[in-house]
Amino acid sequence: VFAAVTLAPRDPILGLNEQFNADTRADKVNLGVGVYTDAQGKLPLLASVQAAEARLAASPAPRGYLPIDGFAAYVAAAQKQVFGTQSAALAARRVASLQALGGTGALKVGADFLHRLNPKATVWISDPSWENHRALFSNAGFEVQTYAYYDAQGQGIAFNALLADLGRAKAGDVVVLHACCHNPTGYDLTQEQWQAVIALLQARDLVPFMDMAYQGFGQGLDADAYAVRALDAAGMSFVVASSFSKSFSLYGERVGSLHVVSQDAEEASRVLSQIKVTARTTYSNPPTHGAKVVATVLGDDALRAQWEQELAGMRDRIAQMRAGLREALEAAGVRQNLDFITRQQGMFSYSGLSAAQMQRLRTEFGVYGVDSGRLCVAALNSGNLPRVAAAVAAVLQS
Ligand code: PMP
Repeated sequence: VFAAVTLAPRDPILGLNEQFNADTRADKVNLGVGVYTDAQGKLPLLASVQAAEARLAASPAPRGYLPIDGFAAYVAAAQKQVFGTQSAALAARRVASLQALGGTGALKVGADFLHRLNPKATVWISDPSWENHRALFSNAGFEVQTYAYYDAQGQGIAFNALLADLGRAKAGDVVVLHACCHNPTGYDLTQEQWQAVIALLQARDLVPFMDMAYQGFGQGLDADAYAVRALDAAGMSFVVASSFSKSFSLYGERVGSLHVVSQDAEEASRVLSQIKVTARTTYSNPPTHGAKVVATVLGDDALRAQWEQELAGMRDRIAQMRAGLREALEAAGVRQNLDFITRQQGMFSYSGLSAAQMQRLRTEFGVYGVDSGRLCVAALNSGNLPRVAAAVAAVLQS
């Protein structure tokens, strides 16, 4: 039966992890996978999360099925987190939302829903984008094209080319945009650039699909949601996939949410019925634990304040590591302009290193990054930073 099955290519980033694990050097450094580790190099278990779990454990609850659209208190808290307290769409009850299996699950349910609605639409993703975007939207049945994003020469965003590419999209096409902390480049649009993009999306009748996987890792919870809230203020119909994987350090709990902003409450209720059908026929209903933890933290003033402080701690530490890497490279005599390291935001730095240079980092120095030049700066700490800086400097200089 399965004789004709071919071997699927290895996931490039998870494959890198396997290679890293097999490396016997004691001072190896993994900057491949997108996971935040703390000053000690450990995946954090946030104190706010532990406190919420202790509370939940103190009054153990049976584990029945959640509704198809998830735990209601979690979904309401996620809506508030994404759209803020001033949201016109939330006030008018025109957001159809459900608990999703991480940001990826939200993207998948959103993609399947949009494809049923408009199978002829093209989905536009940034060049480059998170490596799962193309496959996810292709598997949902869409034709996927890219719009210009990364400007290697200018160490930033090729903004005019981006506008020109989106200017070629046809009405109804879906445009996937990273709300903040662009993965993999780390370069985000300015507020003025967002306004120009939104004007173009509106003028051309395009459907924005905001992917917000790093809210709170750039400038702050509200600042990072600028684009989502600007789309809301513009009165547009759009989709948001949101994830708490990073902001709560709850990667394995699959805490995400999907939001479809509709034109009125009645339309939103029809949309909700459809995304529930997608959820029902894909995984039936989401898991309980992560949603309860997040809802407990967000629903309690003291725990929420503690979480916001812990999140700010992660954000500030990444900024310090960026500054430290830049300083160490400058001190090592690297001549090229390095200010991009601190202009970029979020977990990743697109270093501009070639695939050959990234391979040298791995084989000669045990420093693991992605061949695209992407380094996870959220995995730097004062222990491994000198070694990483020395390795990058050596590769750049010889
Ligand atoms: N979108 C982007 C841009 C991401 O970087 C990631 C996670 N690496 C996701 C979505 C998926 O998030 P989750 O792990 O919550 O599924």
